[in-house]
Amino acid sequence: MISSANPSLIDDLVSANHILVNEGVLDGFGHISVRHDKHPDLFLIAKSMAPALVTADDIVCCNLEGEVIAPIGTKTYVERFIHSEIYKVRPDVQSVIHSHSPAVIPFGVTGERLRPICHMSGFLGALTPVYEIRNSVGESSDLLIRSQSLGHDLANVLKEHAVALLRGHGNVCVGISIQQAVYRAIYTENNAKLQLQAKPLGEITYLSAAEAQATAEMNDQHLDRPWQMWKRRAQSSKLY
Ligand SMILES: [Zn+2]
Repeated sequence: MISSANPSLIDDLVSANHILVNEGVLDGFGHISVRHDKHPDLFLIAKSMAPALVTADDIVCCNLEGEVIAPIGTKTYVERFIHSEIYKVRPDVQSVIHSHSPAVIPFGVTGERLRPICHMSGFLGALTPVYEIRNSVGESSDLLIRSQSLGHDLANVLKEHAVALLRGHGNVCVGISIQQAVYRAIYTENNAKLQLQAKPLGEITYLSAAEAQATAEMNDQHLDRPWQMWKRRAQSSKLY
């Protein structure tokens, strides 16, 4: 199943792992997946390991029940259900990123909502939903999305949005391609930093819903430009 995927898709998935670490979205934790280009009921993701160290040989194939089907006996991330359950209900989504990108965390634990503050993050839309795991399993969980049921509940909160926050944990970004999901994950973190910087200065004028939509459509036409730069920057790092 892995060998039937387009080799360039696997190359891009490996590059995305490195880019997301290099740009401060992932660290030793977090993961990105892509839907299989020939089998929409399957997705590709790295086995359970630090994303900076992922190579093409580390990519595994999962079904939408969150089971690794190839290579047999390989383990992937505990939180694979974030990916499988979103792919189930969002046929438009081709790539999913789960990160703990740090500047976003404050917006999941306070009443302050993550909202688009500049034209690069119009994809956030009018507001960013927050998933509260206590609504699913009470107050004694480890906050990880470690079952299909929790993944299902998270997908229900994400709905048609590009990004959802997980209270006290991180966020999930989705896209119609690896490049769009990576762009969104990086600019979700950027937007959070800018919002935190602007807040003490006074009342923030956020993008309107129409401005958010127009800027998102504009930026979607230029995803390859930053992708090539992020890729080069990651390749030039000694880490990968
Ligand atoms: Zn996590």
